[in-house]
Amino acid sequence: MAATRARRRTIPQLLTPSVVPEAPPTAVANVEPAPAKPVRAPKLPFLLDFFPLETPDQTRLSAFYDALRRGKFRTTRCPNDHQLHWPPRVACPKCHTETLEWVELPTKGRIYAFSAVLAGAPLGMEADVPFVVGLVDLDGAPLRLFGRIVGRSWDACKIGDPVRFEPFEHDDGRFFYRFRVEP
Ligand SMILES: [Zn+2]
Repeated sequence: MAATRARRRTIPQLLTPSVVPEAPPTAVANVEPAPAKPVRAPKLPFLLDFFPLETPDQTRLSAFYDALRRGKFRTTRCPNDHQLHWPPRVACPKCHTETLEWVELPTKGRIYAFSAVLAGAPLGMEADVPFVVGLVDLDGAPLRLFGRIVGRSWDACKIGDPVRFEPFEHDDGRFFYRFRVEP
């Protein structure tokens, strides 16, 4: 928008300065600012906020986060083809029904692969360095989940280490999950 306005002003002035008048600036100056809305803003700029928005007016998957808040780990399953989804869905990717059921996930699993973040952490996570992220195979479910892995130093983690699901509360009240290495 700014580039378009600049072009409109400068190009005609160069070509025919006495014929084409400059557009009056009042149109922009008279626009009143939109009233502030009472939204719960994340601390980071939106594009750098890695955690989903969770309330029913923000996502149709709010039941997933409500369950996390109660310490439950759930996902959706299709009652037609019994496909288990991850992440939870609002519609089955196979048959497209939107009537899905919520099922409990196993809370134990094992590290399939992991990586340590030693430098260059995303904005907002610098204080957590060093930390571990990885893929976890859940016991008894055909799912491989990505997540933060805590409870053991990165240089002591091993593929195959047993982990347990753990909900955690973000500093603005939202909930997410991570995996804690079993002692
Ligand atoms: Zn389905």
